[in-house]
Amino acid sequence: MKKLLPTATAGSLPKPSWLAEPEKLWSPWKMEGEALTEAKQDALRVSLLEQQVAGIDIVSDGEQTRQHFVTTFIEHLAGVDFEKRETVTIRNRYEASVPTVVSAVAREKPVFVEDARFLRQQTKAPIKWALPGPMTMIDTLYDAHYKSREKLAWEFAAILNAEARELEQAGVDIIQFDEPAFNVFFDEVNDWGIATLERAIEGLKCQTAVHICYGYGIKANTDWKKTLGHEWRQYERTFPRLQASSIDLVSLECQNSHVPMELIELLRGKKVMVGAIDVASNRIETPEEVADTLRKALQFVDAENLCPCTNCGMAPLSRSVARGKLKALAGGAEIVRRELTCA
Ligand SMILES: [Zn+2]
Repeated sequence: MKKLLPTATAGSLPKPSWLAEPEKLWSPWKMEGEALTEAKQDALRVSLLEQQVAGIDIVSDGEQTRQHFVTTFIEHLAGVDFEKRETVTIRNRYEASVPTVVSAVAREKPVFVEDARFLRQQTKAPIKWALPGPMTMIDTLYDAHYKSREKLAWEFAAILNAEARELEQAGVDIIQFDEPAFNVFFDEVNDWGIATLERAIEGLKCQTAVHICYGYGIKANTDWKKTLGHEWRQYERTFPRLQASSIDLVSLECQNSHVPMELIELLRGKKVMVGAIDVASNRIETPEEVADTLRKALQFVDAENLCPCTNCGMAPLSRSVARGKLKALAGGAEIVRRELTCA
């Protein structure tokens, strides 16, 4: 990653309509068995190619093999009963029917390691792999066993660490933990959120990232954002703790958000994946708009630590919109890259 301003996406990209119903979260697969495995791999190849054609430097699987960024990981664990569902309020925001933790949780076999190995075979570019973070996992479940959010988070942290170590072995360059819950439960973040995240990355030699956002562009999230006032200072509570942590990169939402850019200063020294693409709008940014956001961010992050990125995953968008946004991201980064190297 010697290139200045290497571009990346926060995570998911749209799935082809032959694989799953498009523009929908938790969309069911359109096939099963062997055919599904093959289709997921084909979709991963297409997603990778689209990133490369657009000019994205740090590529991912576009989360083509998972239905949802949290649920799919949990589905592979023992101790969680997917038949026994309860309605909970996710991130204090929207109700969802979720599975129940009925006994000790355990990872009996690797979850994404084969998929990561497959992606590694397809490209020599740096690859980033996303996993859910411990706090976001517990917030997407009903716990009838541990009856303690913290206890369950520590269990998940150990499980995530085992998975992450194998992903590293499979050749993943950056392992990212998605922790949108860090933007909601500030006391817990301080009490044990950062600590469990550090447990999840224990012993890793590859780079590690945490993605903290205001969520996908779904209605529950956009409605919530309207209640946050004109200035979003949520990151202010978490960034100082992350700055002091051993996480290498922090991925955050900056495009069209009300996050004051100067909050990035609190992360000084870390690599920052600056969200310069709004995932809650179908309007495709111009490269110049992306460049503008990046220039503003450069006041608070050193150029060698800036990774232009999307605000969040793009799974709910149409493929053509997502494609346009990827291209705008790469184009905007290129504008600023030239300015920096010619200065
Ligand atoms: Zn996100």
